[in-house]
Amino acid sequence: MIILKNINKYYSSSQGKFHALKDITLTFPVQGMVYIVGKSGSGKSTLLNVIGGIDKYDSGQLIIENNVITDEGNLEKDIIDTAKFSRSDFNSYRNSYIGFIFQEFNVIKGLTVYQNVALSLELQKKSVKENHQNILDIIEKVGLLGKENRRINELSGGERQRVAIARALIKDPKVIIADEPTGNLDSKNRDIVMNILKELSKEKLIIIVTHDKHLSKLYGDRQIKIKDGQIVGDETFHEENLNNNVPTKHKLKQISPKASVSFKLAWIGFKLNLIRFIFIILLFSISLIFAGSVINLYLTDTTKEYATFQYDYGNFVVSLSDKYNYHNEISNSAFFTTDFDKIKEYFTFKDEETGAITSLTTYKRMNINIPIDKKLPSDFEPSIFYRNSIENVTVYEDRNSLKKEFSIKESPSVNTNYSCYITDYLAENLLMSNYFDETVKNQNDVLGELIEVPGMVRKLQIEGIIYTNYSSFSPQDSNLRLAAFEDNLTIYNSIFISAEKYKTIFSAQNLLYYNDDMVFYKNEKTERFNNMKYSRVTPSDVFLSGNAPDKPKQGEITQIAVSKGFIEQVLDLNVNSLVYATDAKGQTRLQLNGLVYNFYMCGVSHIPTQTEFNITGVIDSDEIICYAPGLDTESTLYNNWINMALVNGGFLTVKISESPDENSIIYRNLLDNDITINNPSFKKLQLVDDFINDNIFLFAALFFVFCLFSTLMIFNFIIINIKNSTRDIGIYMSLGMNGFKISLIYLFQVVIISSIAMVIGLIGSTILLSAVDYSFASRVIVNFDILHNTIYGIGGVILLAYLTPIIAIAFPLFSLSRKKPIDVIKVS
Ligand code: ADP
Ligand code: MG
Repeated sequence: MIILKNINKYYSSSQGKFHALKDITLTFPVQGMVYIVGKSGSGKSTLLNVIGGIDKYDSGQLIIENNVITDEGNLEKDIIDTAKFSRSDFNSYRNSYIGFIFQEFNVIKGLTVYQNVALSLELQKKSVKENHQNILDIIEKVGLLGKENRRINELSGGERQRVAIARALIKDPKVIIADEPTGNLDSKNRDIVMNILKELSKEKLIIIVTHDKHLSKLYGDRQIKIKDGQIVGDETFHEENLNNNVPTKHKLKQISPKASVSFKLAWIGFKLNLIRFIFIILLFSISLIFAGSVINLYLTDTTKEYATFQYDYGNFVVSLSDKYNYHNEISNSAFFTTDFDKIKEYFTFKDEETGAITSLTTYKRMNINIPIDKKLPSDFEPSIFYRNSIENVTVYEDRNSLKKEFSIKESPSVNTNYSCYITDYLAENLLMSNYFDETVKNQNDVLGELIEVPGMVRKLQIEGIIYTNYSSFSPQDSNLRLAAFEDNLTIYNSIFISAEKYKTIFSAQNLLYYNDDMVFYKNEKTERFNNMKYSRVTPSDVFLSGNAPDKPKQGEITQIAVSKGFIEQVLDLNVNSLVYATDAKGQTRLQLNGLVYNFYMCGVSHIPTQTEFNITGVIDSDEIICYAPGLDTESTLYNNWINMALVNGGFLTVKISESPDENSIIYRNLLDNDITINNPSFKKLQLVDDFINDNIFLFAALFFVFCLFSTLMIFNFIIINIKNSTRDIGIYMSLGMNGFKISLIYLFQVVIISSIAMVIGLIGSTILLSAVDYSFASRVIVNFDILHNTIYGIGGVILLAYLTPIIAIAFPLFSLSRKKPIDVIKVS
C-alpha cells in the first residue's frame, strides 16, 4: 500500500518557483488498476515520478505500508516512511518494489530483448541461468517469444513497450507505474499492452498516467483526476478489484548489484561501438608509443650502457684520440692541441666522503697500426691482420671475468733509439707466422728481435711486450667473441713507441716517403698532373678547424691547389665568390671577403697527423681533388709534420676503472670534450649520444605534444561517450542501479581502452626504440644495445595509459551520479 500525505513539490525555473504538486493526499491499494488522468501539464508525471522514487518531493509524507508474512509465517505490519530514505534506499526501492514503464519505451537499445529483461534480474543479484525459463515465460507473456534475441532497434514501438513491461515484470515488483505507456502506440498495439497490464493488475498495483479518459474508463478500476497539481476527482469503478489487505512476502531490502554486471554492460557497450573504440585505441596507442619512446630516449644513460657493455666483456684498457675521426673506422687521429694533463683529469676520481683522489694508470705512448706481410697458419684465429673487412657482428654478451692486468714485460738491455713495444697478440701472430727464425719459440724469446715496419728504413727492435686480454677470446669461440676482440683491435694491433724514441723513428732519415708524397699517399691514388700531384679525398679527410696545430714555419710548403668540387663540397663555398689576392706575406691566395681559407687534412692512414694548407689555385673539376706542386726535394713539410706530433702529443692509452659507474663518468667526460675511444663500438655511443643531445628539445616538445594530444583526445572521447549514454544511464538509475556501479561500466570501458593501448604502446615503443637503435647499429662494426625500453619508459606508459582517462572520466561521472534519476532521464 502506498500512502501519500500532503505531498508538495516545487520546480524552480528561471521564471521562479512553480508549485507542481499541491498538498496531495492519496492512498493506493495493494492490487488493481488505478488511473491518474488530467490535461497535459497538470502534474501527472510529476506525481508518478514522486511515487516511483525517481524524483523528490519537498514536503509531506510518502509511506509504504504492507502486511508482510514473515519467514516464520506470522503476519506483520511493515511501515516505511520514505522521508528517512537514503540515496541507496531509494535505489533499492526502485530496484525491487517498483517497475517502470515510460512513454518513450525506455529500454537499452544495444541489448537484445532477452538481455534487457535479464539485466533487470542481474541488478537484483539473481542468477540469469537459474531464471532462464522464467525470463522466457515472461517474454511469452508479453507476446514476444521467438523475438528474444532481437535487438531493440529491430522492434516496433509496441514491441519495445512490451519489452519494458517484461523487464518490469521479471523483478516481480509490488507496483508497476506507467507514464502514458500507450501514448506512442497505434490502437492495436495499445490494446495488446493494456490487456497485459490489466491482467497484471489482478496481482499487483498498476498506476497508469494518461490524458485519455476513454482508456481509463475502459480498463481502470479507479480514476484519480488531477488539475494544476491538485486532486480534483477520485472515482472508483470496480471496487471488487481494488484490494487493500493482501499479505505479501515482499519486504524492502538493500540490494547492490555485483560489479560483474557493470563489467558485462561495459563489454557489451564496447562491442557495440567497436569501430569507435578501436579508433580511439589506435590514436591513444600511437601517442603512448611515442611518449614511451621519448621517455626512454630522454632517460637513457648512454655512457652507462657503454660502460656496462665494456665491463661485460672485460675491457679495461682504452686508446684515445681526437673526435675528428668520427667517420673513419679505427684509424687514429692524434692529439695535437689537447693538453694531456687535461685529459688525465677525466680519469681522476675524488671520493666525496674522504676526499681521497684516485687516478687511473695512463700510458703516454704513441701507437700505430702495422700490417704484417706474412701469412698466418689458417688454424690461427683470430687473424685480424688478414681480414679485408670486418663484417657486421654483434657482440659477446655474457659477463666474462677478463680482468687481466694491462701489464708490460720489458727487457732493459734492449733499449736502443729504434726499440719499441708490441702486444702479446702481435707477438703471438709473429710467432705463429714464423716471422722470426727457428730459435724464437715463445714470447720470452721475442724480446730483442727485429720487426720490419712498412714505410720505414730501419727495423725496430722489440724492447717489451704489453699483455692484453686478447687471449681470453679463444679461437674456438663464436663470432660474438670475435666481435668483442675486434672492438679492441686498436690496442692489440699496435706497436707502442715511447715518446723519446718517436722523434728518431719518425725522422726523415727513417721514413721512405717525402712530404708531398705523404699528403697524397692517402688514397693510394696519387698521380701526376701538369707537374702537380693530386689525390682524391673524401670530405671527412679534410676539415676547416678552429684549433690548428702550430703554424708551419715560413717557407714551408703548404700551398695547394684544389678542384672546384673540393671548394664546393668540402669547404662549402661558392667558387665564383672567391678572389685571388696577395696577403701580408706577399703570397697570392684565394680569399673571400679578405679572408684566407685554410684547412687541415688527415695524414697517411697509419701516420696520424694533420697540417694546415692554403689554397693557391682552383682546377675546374667537379671531383673532390687536391693538388700539390710536384716537388722532388726532401722538403721540410713532412719533418715539420712529424715534429709537431712529437712536440705536441700523440695517443693516450689508459687502463680504465673496473667499475662501470666510474667508467660511465669517464666516457661522459670524453664525449663532452670531443675525445674518442678507438673502439669501433664507441662510435655508436657517439652517434646515439649526439642524436639524443641534438634533439633533446625536439623530444621534450614531442613528449609534451603527445601527452597533450592523448589527454585532450581521451577527454573528448569520454565526454562524448557518456553524453551518448545519458539515456542508458537514466534507465540504469530507474532500475535502481547505484551511481558507483553505473560509473564502473564506463570505468571498465576506459580500463579496456587503456589496457589495450598500454600493451600496444609498450610493444610499439620497444620496437621503435630497437629500430632507432638498429639504425645506428647498421653504421658500426661492433654493435651493442643502447636504446631499449627501461623501467621508466614502462612506468611512464602505464601511468599515461591509466591516469589520463581515469581523471577524464571522474568528473562527468561524479556529476551524473549526483543527479536525480528523473533529471538524467529528462535530459536524454
Ligand atoms: P503532465 O505529465 O501532467 O503533462 P508534468 O508533471 O510533466 O505534467 O508537469 C507538471 C508541470 O510542471 C508542468 O507545468 C510542467 O511545465 C512543470 N514541470 C515539469 N518538470 C519541470 C521541471 N523540471 N522544471 C520546471 N517545471 C517543470
Ligand atoms: Mg507527463
